[in-house]
Amino acid sequence: MKVKALVAHEATQPLVSGNITLRPLQKQDVNIEILYCGVCHSDLHMARNEWGVSRYPLVPGHEIVGRVVATGSNVDRLRPGDIVGVGVMVDSCRECHFCQQQEEQYCEAGFTATYNGIDKVTGESTWGGYAQNVIVDQHFVVKVPQNLHLAGVAPLLCAGVTVWSPLRHFNVKAGDRVGVVGLGGLGHMAVKLASALGAEVTLFTTSPEKGADAKKLGAKRVVVSRDAAQMAEVQSSLDIIIDCVAAPHDLNPLLATLKTNGRLVLVGIPDSPHLSPDITPMVFRRLSISGSSIGSIKETQEMLDFCGTHNITADIELITGNEVEQAFSRMLKGDVRYRFVIDMQGTRWSAS
Ligand code: NAP
Ligand code: ZN
Ligand code: ZN
Repeated sequence: MKVKALVAHEATQPLVSGNITLRPLQKQDVNIEILYCGVCHSDLHMARNEWGVSRYPLVPGHEIVGRVVATGSNVDRLRPGDIVGVGVMVDSCRECHFCQQQEEQYCEAGFTATYNGIDKVTGESTWGGYAQNVIVDQHFVVKVPQNLHLAGVAPLLCAGVTVWSPLRHFNVKAGDRVGVVGLGGLGHMAVKLASALGAEVTLFTTSPEKGADAKKLGAKRVVVSRDAAQMAEVQSSLDIIIDCVAAPHDLNPLLATLKTNGRLVLVGIPDSPHLSPDITPMVFRRLSISGSSIGSIKETQEMLDFCGTHNITADIELITGNEVEQAFSRMLKGDVRYRFVIDMQGTRWSAS
């Protein structure tokens, strides 16, 4: 099936409207007409080859919300007309220890990424959500609660679950003191979800002007991370920090804000590494640093259902596919409030 998409042809060129061929519908597949796709900072890293793994042509997008338009003969849990989501994964080996325990994001063979992955059926590239349609195995498709505003749901499929997974895995509960670093796509979802879990949230930001928004989103306290005096005020106060920053930065001042036994969870993936922090305070205060990769399909559904119950969606700026480059430039400046989402049906496509 041939569809229109926004295609990156090389790292230094803007995305352009073009055609892609989706795989033929397999027995277990659903064909989804894409309504909205969030613009994750990973899309920018990948379009620009900042991680050195991009293969061109490349179609970004892994925060997909759409409508099922066709299903393969073995699809039992979805029907045409259903509103569904697709996140960062579209396949995995299904057999390894992690797939068996429903943690496909840690598949030992590596999960198949929604874009820039290798499609197990065709052996060709997978194409992301900056497109009219996507064809995905039903196992990697989640159901969207009926009551939520759909454009605001799209960012939950990556940003939402990426912060939900460590909050749940490390058992964050009511009353816990949670730090969130960086008020962008991931960070603002971390503030919303952690506060909805009953945690007391402290936001660390480099943008003092985002403070008022952070409080509206649920943060109890806002700390400007470049202000040493403000950092000193929150020393040894937090149980866990979710660090959502897309650029390298000094981890030592953040570690100093953790209580003994505290944990810093890194979810941001900068294009060059953070400097190694000083391990001495880590030893004497039994601090941990963890990474965390997106979330499983099970966690994605659990998070969406939680958002349905608590009426949580992302705060978004709706754009068309023709405005992605402007969105990328603003994201590079940290100027995002708090996720750009592409309205696929409002996008103008080239005729050919
Ligand atoms: P985003 O919307 O662009 O937000 C990043 C935020 O980081 C900014 O809003 C800004 O917040 C802060 N920041 C501070 N210094 C920065 C700098 N020099 N450049 C850019 N941002 C800076 O990004 P996102 O979509 O939330 O993604 C954040 C990171 O997580 C990216 O590296 C992305 O690739 C990664 N990611 C990881 C996973 C995973 O599975 N672990 C999943 C999705 C994304 P303030 O203005 O508040 O300081
Ligand atoms: Zn993402
Ligand atoms: Zn596996």
